[in-house]
Amino acid sequence: MSDHRGVTPAATRPAAPVATTAPATTTVEGPRLLAGSPIAAQIRAGLTADFAAFKERWGYVPTLAVVLVGADAPSAVYLRQILRTCQKVGVQGRLIEIGSDVTPDALCNEIERLNVDPAVAGIIVQMPLPAQIPLRTVIDSIDPTKDIDGIHPRNAGLLSLGYDGFLPATAQAAVEILKRSGIEIAGKRVVVVGRSNVVGKPAALLLLREHGTVSVLHSKTRDLGRHTRDAEILIVAAGKAGLVTGEMLSPGVVVVDVGINVVGDKLLGDVDFESAKGVVSAITPVPGGVGPLTNALLLTHLLRAATDQAECSAAAAKGAAATGAATAPGAATATGAVTAKDAAAARGADRRAPR
Ligand code: NAD
Repeated sequence: MSDHRGVTPAATRPAAPVATTAPATTTVEGPRLLAGSPIAAQIRAGLTADFAAFKERWGYVPTLAVVLVGADAPSAVYLRQILRTCQKVGVQGRLIEIGSDVTPDALCNEIERLNVDPAVAGIIVQMPLPAQIPLRTVIDSIDPTKDIDGIHPRNAGLLSLGYDGFLPATAQAAVEILKRSGIEIAGKRVVVVGRSNVVGKPAALLLLREHGTVSVLHSKTRDLGRHTRDAEILIVAAGKAGLVTGEMLSPGVVVVDVGINVVGDKLLGDVDFESAKGVVSAITPVPGGVGPLTNALLLTHLLRAATDQAECSAAAAKGAAATGAATAPGAATATGAVTAKDAAAARGADRRAPR
């Protein structure tokens, strides 16, 4: 992301020089472990300073609202981690827990309250949602300027065109961990297992941006192993513990395991680590791989959203003062936000990426 104005989010800065000395890499007996935690720690350190500067400049601490509907176990794990990361970088995290019997209208009303709450800079609605909630209705109801996990059609569209909207953070983390570990993507045969709108599909689009030769596998793909064995880089995001085993991999492949599966009291990836470790050249651990990086990247998006909103609000207040216009209800708020939808329109043309 490159159009951030004012404070530059750490994750949008150029990636650290890619070298074998990259802090993301731990050498152990066996494959190289691509750990996300050290990269995330670097990003968080930058964010802590950036959010302090934000508070100094704008006089408030932005809030990340996370909406959890029902009690999906991996979601709860994921959200707890996000809230911990908020604490670490000095951001207000607000968890909104809603019962799984909520109606679509009630859920959308809750999201609308967050859309118009000037303290809330970013909103995440955790998936999966209960069956009675039409996904589309919820996704459409999030203000795209607060949609820091890139699920709104507007942000998804910008991504597919190669423009610069909010990226889905997990997909971004899967690619970022490769780049920051010095793994060349351009020209490689890259295989993505999973085609969800939040992980597999956006990861495939981002890998295309990096000039990978990308194939996407999914639940209807026949003979998965035939395709995974073709990969030089394999991204697995299927949500099935141990789906990919060592015999489905070619020697030397680099594997990014996005899966988080709660099995008993353990967190397991989608790749069977034990059988894979003797085959791969590098692999992300679960936990400690993509997860921590996802959270850190998400908060860089929050910083960008908060800064955009604050600047937009300041510009609106200045404009109103210049014309002597009274501040109309909804035109400016305590943090100054012009209504988020106006802000979206105003910023619409800004987020183009030169790709
Ligand atoms: P999803 O259920 O929405 O999508 C799963 C995808 O995998 C689907 O496209 C499906 O076609 C494919 N798939 C399922 N079974 C398959 C099979 N047997 N063979 C091939 N493809 C198959 O899940 P999601 O939201 O994309 O999440 C994927 C995984 O990533 C989950 O384990 C989730 O918990 C994890 N996740 C991790 C993070 C993180 O930060 N690390 C964040 C979000 C999600």
